[in-house]
Amino acid sequence: MKHMKGVVIAGKNSLAIRDDCPLPEEICPTGALIRPLIWSPCTSDAHLCATGCASLPYLLNKAVGHEMCGEITKIGADVHDFKVDDRVIVCSVMPVWRSLEAQDGHAKNRQDNMYAGNDDPERGGSFVEEYYIHDADMNLARIPEGVTLEQAVMVPDMMCTAFEGVRQLAPGYGASVAVLGVGPVGLMAVRAAVLHGAGNVFAIGSRKVCFDVAREYGATHLVDYHNEDYIEQIVRCNGGPVDGVIVCGGGESALNKGLSMLKNGGTLVNLSAYFGGKPLEIDPAVWGFGYGDKTIKGVGCGGGRLWMTRMAQLIACGRVAPEKLITHRYHGMDKIPEALRLFLNHDRSLIKPVIYND
Ligand code: ZN
Repeated sequence: MKHMKGVVIAGKNSLAIRDDCPLPEEICPTGALIRPLIWSPCTSDAHLCATGCASLPYLLNKAVGHEMCGEITKIGADVHDFKVDDRVIVCSVMPVWRSLEAQDGHAKNRQDNMYAGNDDPERGGSFVEEYYIHDADMNLARIPEGVTLEQAVMVPDMMCTAFEGVRQLAPGYGASVAVLGVGPVGLMAVRAAVLHGAGNVFAIGSRKVCFDVAREYGATHLVDYHNEDYIEQIVRCNGGPVDGVIVCGGGESALNKGLSMLKNGGTLVNLSAYFGGKPLEIDPAVWGFGYGDKTIKGVGCGGGRLWMTRMAQLIACGRVAPEKLITHRYHGMDKIPEALRLFLNHDRSLIKPVIYND
């Protein structure tokens, strides 16, 4: 086993650049090594750091990161559709396509990535010099002509998560959708809802930098959650409770808030992660006392080559401009900790940072 440089979580609120991250000398026949060209840190990376990997202790001192695009440096003998030097988007969730879950139509419910409970001694996250993936043909997507690196690196999580949420919400034409929390995933959910044919799209947040993008993405109403009566305001503007809600933040109380603006018979899709260990309490009244036909779905990032290829195609066709999410740009792996600290410090000017590997 060789070693390489990478960004690791060294403890609570502590990041370090180390040169002892494992780099396998042999890769599996379906695998590939990818040299990163651009990275993007994420709230979930920052959360791991803030807690010292409390929810996934085996990740301590391993490389962090799951949003990356790069070029292939090595491929296994059974990789058919990619070759060395191809520029690719790397899947963040890594569904296992050769699994019973895949045969059941839900490949992403069995994942081969470091955040999914895999304590793999050969690999961690993708904030490293070379990233090892096990299934190149199924979990890479080519970056289309005309799509920039910083657009492409918004695909693996921001687009793949938000569009998966809206796919599962499936709003009808003209239906009303409220997006609770317009950070980067929420903003993408706004865009996805608009592309899905929604009518009223309520973007609920508080920061101007996010509202500006929400407006550009087609939100019809910008709602500040600091207004005490914002839920009534939404119901009033909409002429009744909304048809669908997407929760992308707001903490443990967000489900109650989302359900209170949702019509009976409507669906709430949750895209937030709750690592706090606290129970999620639901007020029966907002859930139609349990018999209001209000569906709650907990949805995770969609993955795999086809889904990522389709997301990239939305960019190539000019229907999604993901670069609008990028507020901070850095150069060099050594800057990754600084970019992650933007999340830890709750920087109000931040939507999404990228780091070019140059
Ligand atoms: Zn992410």
